[in-house]
Amino acid sequence: MDVNLPKVEYDLQAHSELRFEVEVNEPIQLELLEGTAEIYGSELVKGCVYKFYRGRKVAVFTAKETPMVLYVNVHAGLEQMRDQAAEQKSRGPRIMLAGPTDVGKSTICKMLVSWAARLKRTPILVDLDVGQPDLSIPGTIGASVIETPVDIEEGYNLSGPLIFHFGHITPQNNIDLYKVLISRLAEAVSMRAQNIEQTNYSGVVINTCGWVRDGGYRSIVHAAGAFEVDVVVVLDQERLYSELLRDMPEFVKVIMLQKSGGVVERTRTVRETTRDKKIYEYFYGTREQALYPHTFEVQWSSVKFFKIGGPDLPESMLPVGITLADNKTKVVSVTPSRNLMYHVCSVSTANTEKEIIQSNAAGFVVITQIDINKESVTLLSPSPGPLPFPYLLVMEDVKYNDELRSA
Ligand code: ADP
Repeated sequence: MDVNLPKVEYDLQAHSELRFEVEVNEPIQLELLEGTAEIYGSELVKGCVYKFYRGRKVAVFTAKETPMVLYVNVHAGLEQMRDQAAEQKSRGPRIMLAGPTDVGKSTICKMLVSWAARLKRTPILVDLDVGQPDLSIPGTIGASVIETPVDIEEGYNLSGPLIFHFGHITPQNNIDLYKVLISRLAEAVSMRAQNIEQTNYSGVVINTCGWVRDGGYRSIVHAAGAFEVDVVVVLDQERLYSELLRDMPEFVKVIMLQKSGGVVERTRTVRETTRDKKIYEYFYGTREQALYPHTFEVQWSSVKFFKIGGPDLPESMLPVGITLADNKTKVVSVTPSRNLMYHVCSVSTANTEKEIIQSNAAGFVVITQIDINKESVTLLSPSPGPLPFPYLLVMEDVKYNDELRSA
């Protein structure tokens, strides 16, 4: 329902917080009339009108000393470590956020990198959350150097993030592959950091998945090791905190912080809608910055479809010398069929089949039509055809249907 929204003026005291959630079709407009305030680490410009559309959950903090003193303290601690790193020409702090879903992990990462960028730091943000990633579409993990504070309306302003194909929206569906990719990404992040001095001192901020039990927990421990983290911040879970205290080496600082009262729990439907929106925006952009994707036909003979991971088999059924982990990380050829309809695929930068797992994604396409007689597929793509690389990795769990969206 569209409504005529009245103008409301709030007089906020220092160190206070104004929270709102947009539940109407009209955008909510926000303007700072006096003083200073910020949204998740990015400062509001006085007199500038910001628009927030349906579904956004916003918290405006007054003054730089936000009531989220605890998070600001973490930032201050990281700053000291960065100064020290610059002095000693060593690598800067690596911090990982862990905790169940909907405790504000991604938001704190956003604040930490924004506060750092405001001080001319250029940290690397790593996102291991395959269900609700911030750097790319669902089903991926990735990293990006952050040079500017997060845009209040549009989110991260990224130039050339490094993205790897996972293909599922929870690590649970292929934990072996998840760990291999984490190690690969950690290697790539270290290489990038070594090449840019300022980034090396600025350090790394890592966001993780909300699955914190069993395999999920083990993947968090694995990530901490792979990225050689110095600090782990656990949000809102005593058990996870004590487990990590027990399992992390002594030189890793493990701290627990409360979640902000503003964090909103998202239902399954909200998560699905957010995922869908993320894919839509990859192809079509946002209200402020529209993109115009292309559709073109590709012959089966000119591309090769793969997925990563063989079927779940009991160990006894595997060929001699092949472990379960080998089976779940092998590249499997996929024969084109109607089953591929609506699947999102990563365009791999690999030149040979062997390189597939270790190679990052150049971009993504969606299979929008399959013509069995012509032996061709039609792809929705951000750029015009032909494809720059011949290998397409099918995302088993990630589908996108344009028609459903406009219906
Ligand atoms: P997680 O990464 O732990 O799943 P998020 O950081 O994505 O959690 O937060 C969940 C939701 O709560 C998001 O929609 C986010 O915008 C909102 N949110 C987070 N922190 C606050 C806050 N301080 N005030 C209001 N909303 C918040």
